[in-house]
Amino acid sequence: MTRPFNFSAGPAAIPEEVLTQAAAEMLDWHGSGMGVMEMSHRGKEFLSIYAQTKADFRALMAVPPEFKILFMQGGGLGENAIVPLNLSRGGKIDCVVTGSWSQKSQKEARKYAQVHIAASTEASGYTRLPDPASWDLSSDANYVHICSNETIDGIEFQTLPDLQALGSKAPLVVDFSSHVASRPVDWSKIGLAFGGAQKNLGPAGLTVVVVREDLLGHALDICPSAFNYETVADNQSMYNTPPTFAIYIAGLTFQWLKHQTEGDLHGIAAMEQRNIAKAELLYSAIDQSQLYFNKVDADCRSRMNVPFFLRDESRNDAFLEGAKARGLLQLKGHKSVGGMRASIYNAMPLAGVQALVDYMHAFEKSQA
Ligand SMILES: *Cc1c(COP(=O)(O)O)cnc(C)c1O
Repeated sequence: MTRPFNFSAGPAAIPEEVLTQAAAEMLDWHGSGMGVMEMSHRGKEFLSIYAQTKADFRALMAVPPEFKILFMQGGGLGENAIVPLNLSRGGKIDCVVTGSWSQKSQKEARKYAQVHIAASTEASGYTRLPDPASWDLSSDANYVHICSNETIDGIEFQTLPDLQALGSKAPLVVDFSSHVASRPVDWSKIGLAFGGAQKNLGPAGLTVVVVREDLLGHALDICPSAFNYETVADNQSMYNTPPTFAIYIAGLTFQWLKHQTEGDLHGIAAMEQRNIAKAELLYSAIDQSQLYFNKVDADCRSRMNVPFFLRDESRNDAFLEGAKARGLLQLKGHKSVGGMRASIYNAMPLAGVQALVDYMHAFEKSQA
């Protein structure tokens, strides 16, 4: 039995090997007589899962020692409040608005900080990235917020901005929810990065925060203790009960990632190579067709989330029905954008993208 290919934007597909192992361990993890969901987070069994998961993430993502890795709850939207509560010092922050998610972030931050929009592409409909050289950065910002992959609009920073080179002394805060672990990260440019797990790391419920140590210790008094980064870090992410099962599944996903290879490459570098090949296959099929199109500038198209439209929108339902009949699931676009969206995260193999492209060709032919 082969499973369908699942193009959901999130919660999204999880590697089949991970699901199979989790199913096998569901009632009895490693002879402990307990499933992971039933364990104390302070017992030696779960502590070993936690330590391994954290160490694997650090190694896979090459996170430098001066950064803390926190496993929290609250998701990306939670972090939109938690970040300003911890880093804004109640003062000014700069936000770069490049799509629906960074737009939500700046709105939420206004409750806790004085928000300055350093650049925005809202007026032109989120189809390109503003050149960092043109950003209006403040001299007194406590941080600069970007979303490095706009999940809804399909826009990705192919390189992170170098704030120092742009004359800003502020740390860069990055929402990397929807492309974390899809490519290497240049930590030298980052102060803090956060991501919900449910796109590329595992199930919903876990939020990974990677924060440079020197940014801890400045939370506003009103910051809930469970969301104070320093408190969370000092308590090894166990100030409150962490999302234990989600951490375990993310841990299995990290083991799976470690074993991925493409030629001489392994781990994240192999994933990046594979993700480039998948994205090229899909975008070139879209660009070469008469029926489908994508609106995003070629130099900032997302490798993970590929929104596309049918020139004849009356065929949308027929397209989705035919896709489902072929085992190609969850291709409907976000309600704010319309059309279609194929999310092709790490768990999507090249064969899944090939199956989608084959179907798109066949559907286009059937319409002629
Ligand atoms: C999905 C997503 C979020 C929101 O995550 P929640 O867990 O629903 O809060 C935030 N930012 C980006 C870029 C996302 O893709």
